[in-house]
Amino acid sequence: MVSRGKHKVARLKGLGVKYGATLRKRYGTIYRLLKKKRRCPKCGSVKFDRQALGIWSCSKCNYKVAAGTYDVNFERAKSKY
Ligand SMILES: [Zn+2]
Repeated sequence: MVSRGKHKVARLKGLGVKYGATLRKRYGTIYRLLKKKRRCPKCGSVKFDRQALGIWSCSKCNYKVAAGTYDVNFERAKSKY
């Protein structure tokens, strides 16, 4: 039996075999960036999440802020993509 190397990064559910490898990879990078654990700038809780496109909110203290689509830090998101 041929042993296969393990995948370096976990595969994401959602796109399957569709759309091509490059697009899936790009999707994975952005998805991971989006789902990354973030700390609320007000109360420090990790419940800080994206509520809608460009709207980030903390479910603990109801702090809400407008920021980037996939990341709170726009400068970093812009330079990357
Ligand atoms: Zn908070």
